[in-house]
Amino acid sequence: MDEKLIERKLARLARQSGGLALKFTSPGFAGVPDRLLLFPGGKAAFAEIKTTGKKPRPLQMSRKKLLEDLGFKVFIIDHQEQIGGVLDEILTT
Ligand SMILES: [Mg+2]
Repeated sequence: MDEKLIERKLARLARQSGGLALKFTSPGFAGVPDRLLLFPGGKAAFAEIKTTGKKPRPLQMSRKKLLEDLGFKVFIIDHQEQIGGVLDEILTT
């Protein structure tokens, strides 16, 4: 499945779960995850979306680690079936 379709589905399901999956870009700081996930109670995480079967680039993996070292969860999603589990994990943390 194409990255754009997975991303749109993530945004829709996040809204249905009471949160937001905002497009995230950081000018001058490449490789940050595609979406910022925000949920009630101050819950925040990130998601890097890939077309099914594709892997994150090395820069994307190093940005992931940077954010994880700050204590944020960063999910790699390359399949629409992963979305429900990701949202559950954020909501139950
Ligand atoms: Mg991506």
